[in-house]
Amino acid sequence: MRHQVLSTLALLSAAVGCAGGMGGIGSPDTQAKPGSGSNPFKGVRFFLNPEYTASVEATAKKHPDEAKVIRKVAQYPTGVWLSDIKAVENLQGWLDEAKRQQVASGKPTLTVIVVYDLPNRDCAAESSAGELKVEENGEARYRTEFIDPIAAQFKAHPDQPIAVVLEPDSLGNLATNMNLPKCQASRSAYKNGVVYAIKRFALPNVSVYLDAAHAGWLGWDDNRAKIAKVFKTVLNEAGGPQMIRGFAINTSNYTHLTNRDGAILEPTNPCPNEMTYAKTLKETLAMYGFKDHGIIIDTSRNGKGGIRSKWGDWCNIHGAGLGERPRAEPAPGIDAYFWVKPPGESDGSSDSSGPRFDPMCGVSDAAKGAPQAGEWFESYFMDLVHNAKPPL
Ligand code: BGC
Repeated sequence: MRHQVLSTLALLSAAVGCAGGMGGIGSPDTQAKPGSGSNPFKGVRFFLNPEYTASVEATAKKHPDEAKVIRKVAQYPTGVWLSDIKAVENLQGWLDEAKRQQVASGKPTLTVIVVYDLPNRDCAAESSAGELKVEENGEARYRTEFIDPIAAQFKAHPDQPIAVVLEPDSLGNLATNMNLPKCQASRSAYKNGVVYAIKRFALPNVSVYLDAAHAGWLGWDDNRAKIAKVFKTVLNEAGGPQMIRGFAINTSNYTHLTNRDGAILEPTNPCPNEMTYAKTLKETLAMYGFKDHGIIIDTSRNGKGGIRSKWGDWCNIHGAGLGERPRAEPAPGIDAYFWVKPPGESDGSSDSSGPRFDPMCGVSDAAKGAPQAGEWFESYFMDLVHNAKPPL
């Protein structure tokens, strides 16, 4: 038995990610379909979040010598994180802007939304602990104050494709961290919350990806079987495996796509990297009724590999570089590489005397001077730029 800890968990550029056929807006082959049917990343443009672009631009202004290379980052799309109830107020603005980009480009424009506010969120770590508590009516508030208004916005934007990465880390914690009292106390709230969200997001323009952690957490045979069972239970309650498009891996993590780093760090893990994990996970999932599901891989910060002393370290890993650029269908069975974690946003504060400090943000692999999770961490962003692989 082996589990590895844990992730916290997480205009008008060139035609980013425009692999595949280009249908017009609303043409049947490019519209996201409900269920596991088609790859929503294929044949679309990706929404560029003006707030992210503004952070990049502000950094570029401070570094005139490197401004040109820094500005390249703003050409790439990033996940839009809904990490609290307040953020949902901005969802209409983001989706309206995506619509504007869609009309301007004449191509369907996909927005990737990370839905991240379960009660007792991040039960195995500190830095991303959320606002809702199970014992304070969190389950009901999650449904009515968070998921329902998000679903209403998705419905109000029916002609634009949306991909949802649903609750990073939550089901992974159910699979492997039930020994922790806070995770044990979160079990039914996590399951019920994810089931509810899947049902509410069953809309023609929305494709849901469940988070499946990364190779260094769930790559072991026993852990893959455990997460597959959790997925099966959740999808049985939600209406069947076709209710989701697929699975998201490496969200906010650093595991390389192809190198053998994991084989050195954890020789008993049969999945030394994310591509092996994607393939092996699919084989496991097929035994539990998941067929034809796609996988998206967060490549925001996994360009370098070989940068950790422990695979379980997850907080602002020193020496990381931007990874593969977001694009559709980079390999068979992979719906997309995508920058789900906006590169440059912190994983958690390194201030051991401040609030929400997680000891994992103080280890030697973690960069110093880090602000709270989600806040802009400029020196870290610059490192990601300098270490980008492929280079910008
Ligand atoms: C934080 C969120 C943030 C997200 C993206 C997570 O670790 O908890 O608040 O929006 O990262 O940066």
